[in-house]
Amino acid sequence: MKDNKRIPATDVTPRDSDAVEISLYAAREKIHPKSIHGRFERVREVTVWITMGLYLVVPWIQWQGRQAVWFDLPGRQFHIFGITFWPQDFVLLSWLLILAAFALFFFTVLAGRVWCGYVCPQTTWTRFFTKIEDWIEGDRSARLKLDAAPWTLNKLRKRVSKHTSWLLLALLTGITFVGYFTPITDLIYRLFQIQLGGWEMFWIGFFTVATYTNAGWMREQVCIYMCPYARFQSVMFDHDTLIVSYDEKRGEPRTRGAKSRDEANVGDCIDCGLCVQVCPTGIDIRDGLQYECITCAACIDACDLVMEKVGKPRGLIRYTTENALAGLKSHILRPRMIGYGFVLMLMSALFVAALFLRVPAELDVIRDRTNLYRVASDGSIENSYRLEVINKTQRDQTFRLSFRGAEGLVWNGPETVFIPAGSHATVGVTLGFDPFYHTVETGTVWFVMEDMDEQGIRRERESRFIAGRP
Ligand code: SF4
Ligand code: SF4
Repeated sequence: MKDNKRIPATDVTPRDSDAVEISLYAAREKIHPKSIHGRFERVREVTVWITMGLYLVVPWIQWQGRQAVWFDLPGRQFHIFGITFWPQDFVLLSWLLILAAFALFFFTVLAGRVWCGYVCPQTTWTRFFTKIEDWIEGDRSARLKLDAAPWTLNKLRKRVSKHTSWLLLALLTGITFVGYFTPITDLIYRLFQIQLGGWEMFWIGFFTVATYTNAGWMREQVCIYMCPYARFQSVMFDHDTLIVSYDEKRGEPRTRGAKSRDEANVGDCIDCGLCVQVCPTGIDIRDGLQYECITCAACIDACDLVMEKVGKPRGLIRYTTENALAGLKSHILRPRMIGYGFVLMLMSALFVAALFLRVPAELDVIRDRTNLYRVASDGSIENSYRLEVINKTQRDQTFRLSFRGAEGLVWNGPETVFIPAGSHATVGVTLGFDPFYHTVETGTVWFVMEDMDEQGIRRERESRFIAGRP
């Protein structure tokens, strides 16, 4: 017989009083990193000054009579120290970007996020903004106090001075940025004459606001939430990648205060929290490798200072690898690194070769598409072409123009063309033949451009000749 026992049902529908609403939003806690001195701090100081210095100085460098680095968008030319890139060289610029990506992969596999910690513009500008904050409002504890203090005239004065200084640095950044696209001396002159164009004002304003917001207000949030590199770096890391890490075996169990410690049972970490206070992203490196860590090594400097004070060897937090922390051997040369390194070297060599083998002149041929052919008043049959001749060199040049094609074809147009340095010209020519004396079929013709200074510059372009009959 069937067992008719039934399981009693229980109503598990949550009652309103049980409901707990969990917010997925967490308000940002403002981070005030403490200044620290140490070996890595000195290196960082040098790298950020170099980065900032180069950014501000490069547009002022003159080279062969014009701005050395000038991205002339209206003229469709990029001038970089004597080399002019035209739209036809776009492939070289794409190549350069791919090279930069491979260099980033290579150095990330080798040494983690060194780019982020030492030279990234976000790190650099944030650091200068923090310096200004430090000069005006004082060190970390003074800034925390000022944040918590009620509004007074003194607080207002400090805040106004800080934001004004930030805005001035941001404005300098914006003007310099536009100075890479418009000759900077002319830009500054017109700025003081209040004669800037609409786009120039827009981009100066845009970069001023972007710099002020990113480096003054958002800071570590740009690294944590906006930068894609932080997200995909973990894919490139392996157990031999250099990371900033806390030596848990040595540091744990941590005990607060140096005096009360039983040397036999406690680790070296005295739980002073200094490594957290100096961290620009506000993380605790003792919790393990985190994507927020920009490898700035401030926590290494901080902890080394503490270790020196308590008479312990430096390096409780240090640059190391996961393998080294686990007591295994670290390998610098490993397949992924060799792969990235090989591709990087190969692409660099090919890029340099392409740059030096690049013919510094260009010829484009545009056939007249409105008339396939034309019958001239003397009965000859003609085709019209426009030759676009580009002189990519930094000196004036005269080029010889000619063609190769069927016998009987006659060139009608200038046979030489003078092009100033870094300029271009359009030349109209016709090819034609007299049908009473010659028979020419529709076919291919080649236009040839050669320099007259025996430098070996030669370009040849193919086109069509249409031998229509009246
Ligand atoms: S954990 Fe250390 S290395 Fe990483 S961001 Fe913070 S201070 Fe810099
Ligand atoms: S600075 Fe060093 S000793 Fe102090 S909490 Fe950090 S790891 Fe521990």
